[in-house]
Amino acid sequence: MIKQELKELGILATNLGSSTGQNWFATGADITSSSPVDGQVIATVTCSSHNDYKDICAQAKKAYAIWRLVPAPQRGEVIRLFGNKLRSLKPTLGKLVSYEMGKSLQEGMGEVQEMIDICDFAVGLSRQLYGSTIHSERPSHRMYDQYHPLGVVGVISAFNFPVAVWAWNTALALVCGDVVIWKPSEKTPLCAIACQQILAGILKQKELPEGISNLIIGDKTVGEWLVHDTNIPLISATGSTAMGKTVAQHVAARLGRSILELGGNNAIIITPDADLKMTTIGAVFGAVGTAGQRCTSTRRLIIHESVYEQVKASLIKAYAQLQIGDPLLPENHVGPLIDQKAVAHYLDALSEIEKQGGKLIVTGGLLTGKGFESGCYVKPAIAEVENHYDIVQQETFAPILYLIKYQGDVMEAIAIQNDVKQGLSSAIMTNNLREAELFLSAQGSDCGIANINIGTSGAEIGGAFGGEKETGGGRESGSDAWKAYMRRQTNTINYSTELPLAQGITFNL
Ligand code: NAD
Repeated sequence: MIKQELKELGILATNLGSSTGQNWFATGADITSSSPVDGQVIATVTCSSHNDYKDICAQAKKAYAIWRLVPAPQRGEVIRLFGNKLRSLKPTLGKLVSYEMGKSLQEGMGEVQEMIDICDFAVGLSRQLYGSTIHSERPSHRMYDQYHPLGVVGVISAFNFPVAVWAWNTALALVCGDVVIWKPSEKTPLCAIACQQILAGILKQKELPEGISNLIIGDKTVGEWLVHDTNIPLISATGSTAMGKTVAQHVAARLGRSILELGGNNAIIITPDADLKMTTIGAVFGAVGTAGQRCTSTRRLIIHESVYEQVKASLIKAYAQLQIGDPLLPENHVGPLIDQKAVAHYLDALSEIEKQGGKLIVTGGLLTGKGFESGCYVKPAIAEVENHYDIVQQETFAPILYLIKYQGDVMEAIAIQNDVKQGLSSAIMTNNLREAELFLSAQGSDCGIANINIGTSGAEIGGAFGGEKETGGGRESGSDAWKAYMRRQTNTINYSTELPLAQGITFNL
């Protein structure tokens, strides 16, 4: 099904590993990558052994010594070429993303577009990376701060954005003068190999060291090597909150830095002043897009009682029209979950909802029969619940949407929205300026992303992306997120013939 694409992306269809070489040495155990679309094994992939890891690190360190001295705009030129290559490979890589991960072809291509967009952003950034100049209190002195590269950056990524998250990190890290070692999800190794091959090709074309971009494949043990390694000053980790809590502790124990992009429990508040047509589109896409497997997926709708029945009825109607099936076919809205373990979590959550007092108004369930042979296709579900239920407080990475009613003013809705441990994405649907501004104020949403009249799902690369509380506090992508990939240095220059001390202190010899 995907052989032609694998060929075009320069990777072989079987036993991918040391034989294909470039920038990732693999002599460890074999794992298989199979598609949740049809359950077929796509390829066997060789993982990195600990010795491979040590070799990779040595190579990365050597490459860093060279790369940090390349002027930033020239580093940007490498990213420009990489972005252009991605433009030409967008349909091919997009299809691999869709087939290996299970998201729709449109979303697979959208993910590659995000890679292209971050490359464009990083190219511009490579001519900026601004520090500030500061007025000195001492005569004939000048102060400024500047940003230097940090070193070897470890990137750990999740299965649901198998290519974009790496690109967000790598495009920025590279223009900042860092080099990258990437540990992708063990569930999507082929997407990672494809990305690595594309960037390796550009580095080769520019006669740059291949160790600027490195790949290590394997499960969490391989990730732990990075996390514990004092040679890696920054770990950027995307995944579950459970993973982030472990990673954060180990990196902090060695006083390393981390960027943590963890789970969400995102809500849309629907007020009496909402445009209900827009609301339905935003809520349904947010809840069922990528089969509910986005960190920004809409999990909760907090609906005012005056519009509750109307919203509920339009959601039930919309869900009845959803087409579930092969995500590579454009007519389908919902594809599979990543694997059967994810299906088991989803089914457990459905039974927990009822045990804890919730009511399923669109019953979900596993789909079987023709077209669903992988055992990964489920029906999106909707449940009426209360916010305090344990199951509602957790992120279930599947298409389950919770409806929660509120009676009072917008502050009551905001309190419900904030009353979870996670703090990634949030939204309010309202045409009432007062409500909108309250939602964005200091007493409003406590999330890293807060939207007015847009759903919770997805983001543009121009803004900083990330969330608060158990979402981890990290920021990636746009705005000034690049600063996390550099070290700041404050410089004071004395061009006088005196040596005045700061704060007027005198020291006579
Ligand atoms: P996961 O936590 O199971 O795995 C993520 C990555 O971490 C994988 O590469 C895994 O091998 C690695 N890993 C796991 N434990 C580790 C450890 N102790 N040390 C080092 N590495 C370790 O997550 P997943 O199932 O792949 O992805 C789904 C989760 O990711 C959801 O919770 C989702 O919300 C979150 N996510 C968050 C964002 C964000 O930007 N906030 C983006 C995408 C996904």
